[in-house]
Amino acid sequence: MTDTMKISVDFDRCESNGLCQAMAPDVFELDDDDFLVVKAEETTSENLAAVRQAVAACPKAAISLGQ
Ligand code: SF4
Repeated sequence: MTDTMKISVDFDRCESNGLCQAMAPDVFELDDDDFLVVKAEETTSENLAAVRQAVAACPKAAISLGQ
C-alpha cells in the first residue's frame, strides 16, 4: 500500500515556466493560456517519483505535498 499525498500549487508563486510539466506531464499541464492545470489531486505509486522531481524542479517552490 502506498500513502497518498495531496498535491498543492501556490498559484501566486507559479510563473508558468512549465518545468513541472517537463518532469510530470501526467500531473501538470500548461493550458493554451499558459495557466498551469493540475490534473491529479493526489500522488499515486505511479506518479510519486515524477511529482517529487517536479517539486524539486520548480524554481518558485510553488508545489507542495501534504496530507
Ligand atoms: S515548475 Fe513551478 S513555477 Fe513552473 S509551472 Fe510548475 S509550479 Fe509553476
